[in-house]
Amino acid sequence: MNVYDGQRIAAMLEKHGFTQTENVSDADLIILNTCSVRAKATDKVYSALGRIRRAKKESALLGIVGCVARESGADAFRRIPELNFVLGPQSYHKLPEIIKNPDTKLLNIDLGGLEKFDELPQMTKTPLVAYIPVQEGCNHCCTYCIVPYTRGRELSRPFNDVINDVINASKTGAIEICFLGQNVNGYRYTDENGKLYKLSDLIRETAKLPEISRIRFTSSYPTEMSDDLIEIFGTEPKLLPFLNMPIQSGSPRILKKMNRPDDIDAYKTIVKKLKSVRNDIQISSDFIVGFPDESDEDFEQTLNIAREIKYINSYSFKYSPRPHTAAALMSNQISEQIKSVRLQRLDLQLNENQREFNMSCIGKEMICLYESVDKTGRHLVFRTPYMQQCIVDKPNEDIAPLQKIKITDANKSCLRGEIIK
Ligand code: SAH
Repeated sequence: MNVYDGQRIAAMLEKHGFTQTENVSDADLIILNTCSVRAKATDKVYSALGRIRRAKKESALLGIVGCVARESGADAFRRIPELNFVLGPQSYHKLPEIIKNPDTKLLNIDLGGLEKFDELPQMTKTPLVAYIPVQEGCNHCCTYCIVPYTRGRELSRPFNDVINDVINASKTGAIEICFLGQNVNGYRYTDENGKLYKLSDLIRETAKLPEISRIRFTSSYPTEMSDDLIEIFGTEPKLLPFLNMPIQSGSPRILKKMNRPDDIDAYKTIVKKLKSVRNDIQISSDFIVGFPDESDEDFEQTLNIAREIKYINSYSFKYSPRPHTAAALMSNQISEQIKSVRLQRLDLQLNENQREFNMSCIGKEMICLYESVDKTGRHLVFRTPYMQQCIVDKPNEDIAPLQKIKITDANKSCLRGEIIK
């Protein structure tokens, strides 16, 4: 989501005659696009601002956009007096106002809903992977999560608006479409004739475009995995066989306190259904360890589910109390020390799953999408359909971005392969 926001901000500023620089001391305008989902992300913003305000030109405009801006509001100006603007995740399209009035301080942390999408210019050049938001905000109210506060209630974008963005992306360079939403599989839009559109309709329409070869979406909420969406994994080959479906914890008791779906059997049934429509599908998850009142037994259940579902790659976090959330006020907060030990143990399991899956890929052939040249300049990095990094020797000639690659070696973090001519 932040990559998308960053690209749109860059496109908007290019229209105002700006170009990008890598060097802070050269910049006339410096923007930090920020995340506040965990305390560490917020802390990083303020330490970066400390560095930047010393390095920047005296005349350069400096500001923050995104969720930390929304969370801090006017307080950000008190903490960092050099700040010129503070714009929330749904008001960064107001950025040109500060260019017109550089001597003012611009604060806008309103929840403008979908308004920004009408204001942002279309991209004239899209990277191979295009991120397309289908909704803003979230209605689920997981008790640890600050997103409903920073990005507001859930709103689905009109079907035609999303498809127009997809078509524009396909015409300007995209090969892969990644649909984005805080609760992406909860996408529901009813048009003026009462016709309901769901995520599966977006996928079906997108798959018709010849330029688009790969489709994926993130992040999914388990109980929003409706049958139409499960079925399309079996019928639409462009939809990648890989799904991020966070469970967060393996303990029903903790899931209840998180205000998450707490029926582990129902979750497993969804995984089973997915595998029955497409047997090569793989799942990844997000996990939180050390949620308030999490006991050793609760944590063991998390380890068990990670082992059982064999998630092929996952994100794992220590619980971080956030402002405006219910869990921050709960009793029996867990010590940092216990959180660290649990995270280490969970990561051992998750890394083992990932290594095992990567090893199982050796000898297979996969169609992969070009991502970058590596640091040495001698190799190319591709992404497999499971989002694994796959490294190949750089051929002498230019090659197409989609290549069939034979996997020759693997470790925990990546694959090695050879392009099949
Ligand atoms: N549904 C959102 C979630 C964004 S946050 C989405 O679009 O992905 C990504 C992950 O961060 C969550 O799945 C959760 O595992 C983790 N997370 C969220 N709030 C957290 C908190 N307060 N402490 C620790 N981890 C958290």
